Parts: sequence; C-alpha cells; structure tokens
Amino acid sequence: MTSPTLHDRLHSGPPLLLDGAVGTELNRRGVDTRLPLWSTWALIEAPEVLAAIHSDYVAAGAEVLTANTFRTHRRSLRKAEMGEQSAALTKQAVEIAREAAGGHAGVWVAGSVAPLEDCYEPGLVPAASSLRDEHREIVTHLQQAGVDLFLVETMNSIREAVAATEAALEAGLPTIVGLVCGREPFLLSGEPVREAVGVLDSMGPDGIVINCTPTPDIRVSLREVMDHTELPTGAYGNVGYVDEEQGWVNTDSVEPSAYARHAEGWLQMGARLIGSCCGTGPAHTAELRRLLDT
Ligand SMILES: [Zn+2]
Repeated sequence: MTSPTLHDRLHSGPPLLLDGAVGTELNRRGVDTRLPLWSTWALIEAPEVLAAIHSDYVAAGAEVLTANTFRTHRRSLRKAEMGEQSAALTKQAVEIAREAAGGHAGVWVAGSVAPLEDCYEPGLVPAASSLRDEHREIVTHLQQAGVDLFLVETMNSIREAVAATEAALEAGLPTIVGLVCGREPFLLSGEPVREAVGVLDSMGPDGIVINCTPTPDIRVSLREVMDHTELPTGAYGNVGYVDEEQGWVNTDSVEPSAYARHAEGWLQMGARLIGSCCGTGPAHTAELRRLLDT
C-alpha cells in the first residue's frame, strides 16, 4: 500500500530529508510548551508561529514535514480536560503542515504517532488494550486529516512500538518507525535494539529509524538496526536534554555543521532517511540539505 513515489524515494536515489524539531523550536520562538500539552499549545495560542516553522523547514529543503500531532491524542489532552478536541486539534495540525507544504512538489506531510505517555518514561507505557485502542484512534484521526504517511516516533518500548505500528499498518499508509535509545543499543525500556528491529521488521513497515537519541550516540544503535533489517533505515537525533516542566531544554552543544558531520557518518553507513529531532531547527535542516546535495 506504499505510495509509489515515497516508496521510490526510500529505496533509490538520494536519501530522503526529514524536517527538524517542531516542539522545541516553538519553545525557542517563545511559545509556551508547558506539559502536559507541550507543543499542542501552539495550535491554540500561536498557530502562526507553527506555520512559520513548517515553512522554514520547507525553505531549508525538508521533503517531509511532521505535523504537530505529538501530543494531540486524547490521553494527553484529557490531562487538560480537552480530550474531546483530539480529532479537531489533529486535523488543525495537519492542515497547518499541509498548507506549508502546499505548492512544493515532493514535500510530504507525516502524522506524528507518539507514545501515549511520557516518551522518556518506559515504565508508564499503558496496558495492551489501551495501546491498541488509543493508537487506532490517533491513526484514524491522522488519516481522516489527510496525512501522507505515519511517523511512529520516539518509541521507548517494544510493545508500544508494535502496537502503534500495527495500528498504522492497518490504516494502509506508509509507516516509518522510530526508536529512542540511550548511549548503548538499547531502547529506554532496556530492550535490545536488535530485538525490537526483529519484531518490527516482520511486520513490514516502510522503514526503521533511531530518533530523539543524543546525536553523538545514534551511530551504535543505528548500526544494530542496519544489521537486523533490509528495510530502509535512518536517524534523527536530538540536541539538548529533558526537562520535567518544559519537556526539553535547548542547548547548542551540537551546532548545525557538527550535526551534519554526524549525519554524514549515518549516510556512509547506508542511511536512507535523515533529519533532526528535539533541540534542532531549520539551520540543521539546511546543513543536511547541503550535505545531500554535494
Ligand atoms: Zn525529539
């Protein structure tokens, strides 16, 4: 069911360039991103800033814009007594990304399918029945909103990665799965990357990536992914650190040019898609574009 064009881009020609962070970039531009809603506040309070971020990523050369749906699922919204607005906010987030992509041939809009609870707290991953039902709902909302693909991202445990991927594949759109790891090739749950890749590979997604992992640490986990699947692989790493109230603290510890040198290593290993995650911005994307174009 893979869209031929996206499928082609993942399997041949130059690697695909994903955008950079949205949530932390909103924060950098002065938008309130306090938990539990985090980046979702922008849909209510600053949609024009969100639109500007997406447009800046297109201008920097991104081929995939990730809609701001990381925290538009019912479970997060319920914490702010806004559970019933899940479908509407998801639709709005996708429309804002679509408008920024509009008119630019070859720019896809991905729906972000995030962990139901805190992405850095594998101990909070809900029971199987919740995972199944709630990921189905998110995926349905994203599909109704018209996304081109699903980016199941920042998955910290095998069981949630599997549940979210299952829901996405059932919907029949291209699906990329992202795992969040630490310094060693293990998910934050402590499960080995190779075990996660073994299970996910058999489900047949369109790619498996490492994401929201400290940029210098990506390499060792990406190696494990590549050694255990023939699917397209890749990475988008973070720059900064987790904060309990704001969700994230941006630092400039990996400048755009240094980020591109890390990404160059991933490409030499065989990565088919690259981008950047929390703490990065359009300047990182622009450096990656230069890297891919030279
Ligand atoms: Zn991230």
